[in-house]
Order: sequence, then structure tokens, then C-alpha cells
Amino acid sequence: MRQSIAFVYTLRDVPADAEVVSHRLLARAGYIQKLAAGVYSYTPSMARVLQKVSNIVREEMNRQGAQECVMPIIQPKEIWEESGRWERYQKGGQLFTLVDHKGSEMCLVPTAEEAFTTMVKRAVTSYRQLPLNLYQLHTKFRDEIRPRFGLMRGREFIMKDAYSFDIDDEGMRAAYAKMRIAYQRIFERCGLKYTIVQADAGAIGGSATEEFMVNADTGEDTILVSEDGSYAANVEKAESLIPAGEAGGEAKPMHLEHTPGDKSVDQLSKRFNLAPSRMIKTILFRAVFAESEETVAVLMRGDLDVNEVKVANAVGAIAVDLADDARVRAATGAEPGFAGPVDMKAGVKVLADISCKPMTNFLCGANKSDYHLLDVNFGRDLPVPDYKELRRARAGDMCIDAKRGKLIETRGIEVGHIFQLGTKYSSAMGARFADEEGKERPFVMGCYGIGVSRVAAAAVEQNHDKDGIVWPAPIAPWQVHVVCVNSGDLLMKQAGDQCESALEGAGIEVLYDDRANVSPGVKFKDSDLIGLPIRVVAGRDVKDGIVEVRTRRTGEAAKVKIADVVAEVRKRLE
Ligand code: ATP
Ligand code: MG
Repeated sequence: MRQSIAFVYTLRDVPADAEVVSHRLLARAGYIQKLAAGVYSYTPSMARVLQKVSNIVREEMNRQGAQECVMPIIQPKEIWEESGRWERYQKGGQLFTLVDHKGSEMCLVPTAEEAFTTMVKRAVTSYRQLPLNLYQLHTKFRDEIRPRFGLMRGREFIMKDAYSFDIDDEGMRAAYAKMRIAYQRIFERCGLKYTIVQADAGAIGGSATEEFMVNADTGEDTILVSEDGSYAANVEKAESLIPAGEAGGEAKPMHLEHTPGDKSVDQLSKRFNLAPSRMIKTILFRAVFAESEETVAVLMRGDLDVNEVKVANAVGAIAVDLADDARVRAATGAEPGFAGPVDMKAGVKVLADISCKPMTNFLCGANKSDYHLLDVNFGRDLPVPDYKELRRARAGDMCIDAKRGKLIETRGIEVGHIFQLGTKYSSAMGARFADEEGKERPFVMGCYGIGVSRVAAAAVEQNHDKDGIVWPAPIAPWQVHVVCVNSGDLLMKQAGDQCESALEGAGIEVLYDDRANVSPGVKFKDSDLIGLPIRVVAGRDVKDGIVEVRTRRTGEAAKVKIADVVAEVRKRLE
């Protein structure tokens, strides 16, 4: 592809909203343009990258026996009501919905369990037609609350989504294992460093589930990994061991303490000379359910943190978020900062982390502005609460299997997610087949997603330097950037043309900077920014039949005869 005619451009300015490097570089190097918040146009170079990622995904899915489909992205409300997810997704605030001219409600698909289950339900009647694994590479829509980081969290994005249908759990587990292998091969082939982590099932539902995380400091996900590397979990899911707190001793009478302005554990610890582990924090949440909202109070030992995902799972909520001040006042009758579990207003659901169970004579908020209660005891001053595992595991905690060492915190970008769903969707949607005995049974399903456009962005997060992108060769839009230093110089132009045709003749993809009236400095800057793996420069040495071949990642360069360019490029691409 010749740059003089190609739609390839670079920008000097960084988009004002570009917070992460992949967004900055992809925009500046002319790969993406924003059309609306979280909605991007892909230029020809980006289309090539996405095609490369898609092809790797496709090959590995096919290798595991999955079959490609194309499903509608606009879907009727009915199938979403059958699965019970219409309300859930709408409440979650992520569903793009629309009404057609007849007044029927529809949505733009955020994920396609319903559509695939419907398709299989209508065509598969017998166990003889199973197992099946069906997938597509298609656009998804989610009205993300905070679209950001360019392609990383878009409102429209490309996903590979696959759905397996099996006779029983054993079949589902086998399908899951195959997808796990496919995913490992996909991310390795894309040239990415990644970690497989235990994950929370979230709104999709189901049991066993793992995420594939591209290791990157800018990742939105926090991962906890054991020292020996054998345990890795998303912090939303992670568990850990912590030392027992200091005991509180024999029960003493409860009393009210005036604590003007003291709202934090630190302030109270100083005032009473009491370890934070002798206090109970009461954190109020708004829990959102399909039909309602509730206030949930979580009791947590003072030195520990709450894991919101565990709270949502414990109460079966679609989502939970911190209560705003009005909700806190309504639940406690006090200013925020003084909430406590004694005489909490009716209608507030109280949960306590398991760490609170052995505590006696603890300090907590009094539900009265500027007051706390000291020497509070469960069972006497307040009912024994519902104890659950609600604590957020932290770096430095011991792994639940202590042999594996302490937990270390890293960050990652979720590029893939695999789920064992079981019969959640098939049961809800009446999707059944006849087994060997002729008995009707629901399909046992799995689902498997990869964020194709997010993979491209994650690759840039992991592969760049101060000058620009450094594409891993398998997903680079072109393998080689041939740069003619001065297109007005006949010899240089001839050498450039020659390199281009020799490389293309050898099946290597070439972007050829043959632009006239562009300075060599600008050409090299653009080339670094665009980030193709190998650069071939036709410059002054062409008079001796020599060009320079340079590897983008290392900057390592060699002068080679034009006749040897193909061999040299091949060697470097390996
Ligand atoms: P996240 O936790 O990042 O919001 P998710 O768990 O909701 O993602 P899944 O439902 O598991 O996402 O979707 C499968 C894959 O699709 C994800 O692993 C991710 O790679 C990709 N993906 C999800 N949401 C987005 C988005 N808004 N923009 C780009 N890719 C996305
Ligand atoms: Mg996910």
C-alpha cells in the first residue's frame, strides 16, 4: 500500500480526553477517530489490525471445532424477557433500547446468549445433534456508565462470542477446557503477555469462570497473584487469609461517647487509643434489584475493606453502590460518618463480614451525629447479624492456600472471559433436547467472550515506546514499512519500488512511504508512531545497492543489499 494514495495519516495533537497511552497513540497514528463517547471509527489501518486479530481468533475457534455464525445485533425484547435479563440489563443501565415504528421494543445486543439459545432451541431436538459450539465475530453495544480509554471501554465494540451446548456437565466442562486452550493459543499468537485469573460471574451468571488479563499497569482490573504464581484472581473474586483481630475480652456495659467530628477509623483510633481491628465500620450501600432498591448496611472490622461484588452476590442484587448522603441520613438519622448497627432504621438489611464474628466490646457509630458507641456486643446490644464473607482481599494477605505465599497486586486488562453457565439460560428459555432415553433435558451451556477491539488496544498498552506503537508482528496492519527518504531522487525511488515489490512478491505486507515533498524527519517520526515491526529505508546508500533494515522494537539496524531484503526481513519477523 502506497502512502501517497493511502488513507494513512498522523496527528500532532493528542485528543484531550485520551487518558491512556493506547488511546493517545491509536488516535495520533491515525488508527481510530472518535464519533461519539465510546463510539469509534476504524480507519483502514485499524481495520487491518482488527482483521488480523479476528483471523487468529477464528482459526483457533475453528481448530477447537467451534462453528462461525452471524447473529442479528438488533434483537426483540421477547427473548430477553424469556431469559429474565431485560429488566436486569436495563436496571444495570447498559442496555441500548429502541422502539420500532409499530411500537415494539428492541435492543442493541450487549451479549448474545438469548439469540444463540433461541437458534439452537428451534433446530436441535436430540442428543444426537450435540455437542455444539457456535460463535460469531460481531459488534456489541453497551451503554457503559463511563466509556473511556478509547477502545478499551467503548459503547460499541467488537466481540467474539461463543456459546457451547452440551448434554451434561461433563460435556460442558470439556467444551470449557477446549475454549481455555483456544484462548491461550489466541493470546500467545497475538504476542501478548497475559494471566488467567479466577473471576466473578457477574450479570452473566453461572459457576466456574475465568478471565484472561493482559498484564498492564493501566489495566482497570486489580489482580491478586500468590507469590508462587499458582493462584491468581480478580480482586472482585479473590479470597485470602488474615491474622485474627485482637480479642475484646469479657462483655462490658455499652456506653455512648461524644466524638465531635471524628468520622474516620484513624481519628477514632487516636481518640480512644484503640486498634482499628477493635472497631466495626458500618458501610451503607444502595442495592439495585430488578423490581426494587434497598439499603444494605455492611459491618466490617475497622482495619479491613468491603468487596462490593461480594456484597451484591450476598444479597442477590444486580449491582450495589455506596449510598449517597441522603440515603445514609434516611437509614441512620445521622450525618454520614456516624452509622452503626445498633437501632438501625427498619428496612435496612444488615450483613456482617465474618471477621466481625469473634469481636466483643467493639466501637461503632451510634446513628447519632458526633457520637459513637463503645463496648458494644453482638446478641446483647444488637441482634446477631448474618455473617458472610464480604472482605476485599489485599496485597500482603496470605493466599487462601498458605503454601502458595502472600498475595501480590498487579493490574490487568480483561480481554477474554470464559464461563460455565450450566442450564441458566436453557432452563429459563425452555431450550431442551431429548436424551438417549427420550427424556427432555435443558442444554448445558458455556459462553466465551473475547473483546477483539479491546485486544488491539491492550496490545498497544503492552507494546509501545516514547516514539509510538510497537505492534506485535502477528497483528500489525502491515509487517514492513518501506520508507523512501526522498521520492524525488530517482535512484532512491527505484530502490524503494524494488523493495516494495520484492517484499510483496514474497507475501509480506508492505506500507510504502513514497510521499513526495515530505521531509525524511517527518517520515521517520510517522513510521515510529505507526509502529510496524520492520522498517526498510531507501536512502543515500542505494547508489551502492544498499538499504537499511531496522527492527522497530529494538532499534537494531543493518545495511543489506537490496537483493537480500526479503531474507533479512523474514529473519527479523521470526
Ligand atoms: P468489563 O468487566 O471490562 O466491563 P465484562 O466482564 O462486562 O467486561 P464480558 O461480558 O465478559 O465483559 O464480555 C466479554 C469481553 O468483551 C470482555 O472480556 C472484554 O474483553 C470485552 N468487553 C466488554 N465490555 C467492553 C467494552 N465496553 N469495550 C470493549 N470491550 C469490551
Ligand atoms: Mg467479563
